[in-house]
Amino acid sequence: MRILVVSTPVGALGSGRGGGVELTASTLVAGLLERGHRVTVLAAEGSVLPPSCAAATLWLERGADQPSWQHRSRQDPVELPVDALLGRLWRRALAHQAHFSVVLNLAYDWLPLWLTPHTATPLAHLVSMGSVGEAMDGVIAEVSALRPRHLAFHTATQAADFQLAEPPILVGNGFDLSRYQLCLEPEPVLGWAGRIAPEKGLEDGALVAARLGLPLRIWGYEEDRAYAARVAASVPVGTLEWRGFLPTEQLQGELGRCAALLNTPKWNEAFGNVVVEAMACGVPVAAYQRGGPGELVVEGVNGALAPPDDREALVAATHRALAVERQGCRAWVEEHCSQQAFAARVETWLQDLAG
Ligand code: UDP
Repeated sequence: MRILVVSTPVGALGSGRGGGVELTASTLVAGLLERGHRVTVLAAEGSVLPPSCAAATLWLERGADQPSWQHRSRQDPVELPVDALLGRLWRRALAHQAHFSVVLNLAYDWLPLWLTPHTATPLAHLVSMGSVGEAMDGVIAEVSALRPRHLAFHTATQAADFQLAEPPILVGNGFDLSRYQLCLEPEPVLGWAGRIAPEKGLEDGALVAARLGLPLRIWGYEEDRAYAARVAASVPVGTLEWRGFLPTEQLQGELGRCAALLNTPKWNEAFGNVVVEAMACGVPVAAYQRGGPGELVVEGVNGALAPPDDREALVAATHRALAVERQGCRAWVEEHCSQQAFAARVETWLQDLAG
């Protein structure tokens, strides 16, 4: 197939502003190239792809970033900034659609979803979040009613947020496991990784670390500085170690040295890339039983689970996670979340649409 992948309109690939979609995009492109497809990626100016995607063509567009849906109120209308990147991306995608077998949208936004029945080339959407706003819920329900096979989701928990006409197509997610090294000798520290924003619940991770008397190393793009400061003030000085946003190679090296990863989202996380990335390095995960992480963490196999928002239970779950065998975490990821298996699932979905 000739596949046009249209990236997120929230930040350049490699910046961290797009969250998990950035890593998903590069793994997916690398996996589809490996399977012999020709891939063009249309993304924000400044985007970079890892060497595994060198055979892809990269088209760049400038324009104003889209406001992220997860930071808006549920009733907010669809918004497009002046000189919107989203509009520019889709103008270019539509102008070139005839050269492709299928167009794959990675943006969680109203415009590309609304376009679905109006394109000449089939338009597929890998939905990257659960329900965060009524306008998005509405357009996803509409697409599902008109073109159900054009939608795919990462996890069953995520898909259950939406009103769907048919059982969802689930593709999970994938990781280039050659980029993650198994570390069998951790330091007595806990880890936390993700965008630093209220929906990620860093304050719960900080509290658990303080209760256990272990430092918490934090990696991620600081989306909300005031929130980060509030979390820092909530625990004794020295509990939190801020490491900034690191590229995957460095991130995995540092993540691997943690005794356990804490994962604490307050929202229905669609997947939870960092959960699998930690496990790929042999790090067991203590998480709330909510969203994607609730499906990914298997008690005693790759981590431990606590009821949502129950911080005492999360302290106990962290104790249990610390006893999980590290090799087993890596083995679980190899079996369930490889780049190859993910690309094969996406290929089956897209081939069905491309005909
Ligand atoms: N990440 C990174 N460097 C860091 C911290 C995080 O590259 O220092 C990446 C991580 O690899 C993951 C993404 O940020 O792909 C966070 O994605 P996740 O699915 O966990 O959450 P989202 O931000 O999409 O809600």
